Amino acid sequence: MVDSIRPITQQLWSQLSRTEQARFLRHVTPYWDVHRHRIAPEIGAIVQALLQSGQLIVMAARIQDYKASVDGVNVTIKERKGQMQQVLRVDRMVNCTGIQIDYRHCNHPLIVHLREQGLIRPNTLGLGVDSTPDGILYDAQGQASPYLYTIGTPSKGDLWETIAVPEIRVQAQHLVATILQSLPLRMKAIPPLSRKQPVPTVPTDNVASDSLLFRQFFDPESSTYTYLIADRHTKEAVFVDTVLEQVERDLQTLTELGLTLRYCLETHIHADHITGAGQLRQQTGSQVIVPQYATAKSADHSLADGDTLTLGSVQITAIATPGHTNAHLAYGINTTHLLTGDALLIRGCGRTDLQSGDAGTLYDTVTQRLLTLPDEVLVYPAHDYQGRTVSTIEEEKRFNPRFSDRTREQFITIMNNLGLSYPKKINQAVPANQYCGDFIPEVEVNIMEQAELLEKQEQVKKNVVTNEQIYDDAHLGMYI
Ligand code: FE
Repeated sequence: MVDSIRPITQQLWSQLSRTEQARFLRHVTPYWDVHRHRIAPEIGAIVQALLQSGQLIVMAARIQDYKASVDGVNVTIKERKGQMQQVLRVDRMVNCTGIQIDYRHCNHPLIVHLREQGLIRPNTLGLGVDSTPDGILYDAQGQASPYLYTIGTPSKGDLWETIAVPEIRVQAQHLVATILQSLPLRMKAIPPLSRKQPVPTVPTDNVASDSLLFRQFFDPESSTYTYLIADRHTKEAVFVDTVLEQVERDLQTLTELGLTLRYCLETHIHADHITGAGQLRQQTGSQVIVPQYATAKSADHSLADGDTLTLGSVQITAIATPGHTNAHLAYGINTTHLLTGDALLIRGCGRTDLQSGDAGTLYDTVTQRLLTLPDEVLVYPAHDYQGRTVSTIEEEKRFNPRFSDRTREQFITIMNNLGLSYPKKINQAVPANQYCGDFIPEVEVNIMEQAELLEKQEQVKKNVVTNEQIYDDAHLGMYI
């Protein structure tokens, strides 16, 4: 009987009133548990043999007390039938009654904290917590939580039949769907730009270039380029690599062009300036998107390699380009423009000695993922310190001194000996950017850090002198 009603046990349970559920628990639980739960026949046979040999004795009793002594434990029990107390002398006591699911009294630290903060509402039957049929937890005030879910045992009060794999598997599937739907973006992955992909034929290209609105802005203090990408027809827009000090300029541009800002993207967590993304989000209701694996605490979403954002007929494709930082992304705009961030600069590249940088990785990234793109693709970097604004893949293949005719080993040597100074703002910019610029920490430079900084600067001076000739492009000293 128990097995045959299993497909509808949850439904039957949820139709009972709390009083009826309590009555069921009071009168039926032991019978239900005995018939619902079985052991494997092999283990059953072992138990039977132990019972028959007298090695195993089963007693229905309550433990009244226990005391450890030098050679074991004295356990005082009271048998269910009769009021006789007796003391058993045993070697070991093992509690096999399962986990404590009366969350009203459970003393597990996680449950205690959730309860004290009012983030959960323990079930009044002493069976886990109250939740919606989708597993969304109710808080102490009875509001469905925006971010706490459960599956399995904690739902026992609401579902009763919820502790075994067949039920938990179904719950897990529903929960995944619920969480996916709650995410702010729905993304469809398309293959990243590659050389093999044919450049679109004229009609398609015309449509795309007609629709694409592309602007480059400059921040003189950090030499950062910010890009505005929009669809002329739908008026949806994206900013890439904004700068906090330039938010007013960016807002004014949006107003003048009648654009709706949908997203602010970052190529990476910057060390030289604070992003304007958080401010723009507050002003426009846009969302902040960072690369997957970037440690940004208040981003709305992240993009992985090959993910695309669609603005009308404009497509932005994320291209994983680690090396300057490990989570760095470049963005392909349709098939014509490439925002290279700090992976590839005009006649240079981003430094690899800070954050999670790695010279060998950057070499592989640039030579295998960027310089293999069609020659005519336009290269738009995140910085330039000499007033250059745009290049092409072909030009960088031919003239970039860090990659043209350089082996991987030569490149690593160059990068390890650039002798660049520490970015002035790094201690403030990195933590601020991890909060998308919403929160700017006060920076405390302690004595140890100051000493380290001075030592690094000394080292830098030495390197610059000794390597002057080979690494003449290092004098710019600002590649971030
Ligand atoms: Fe950078």
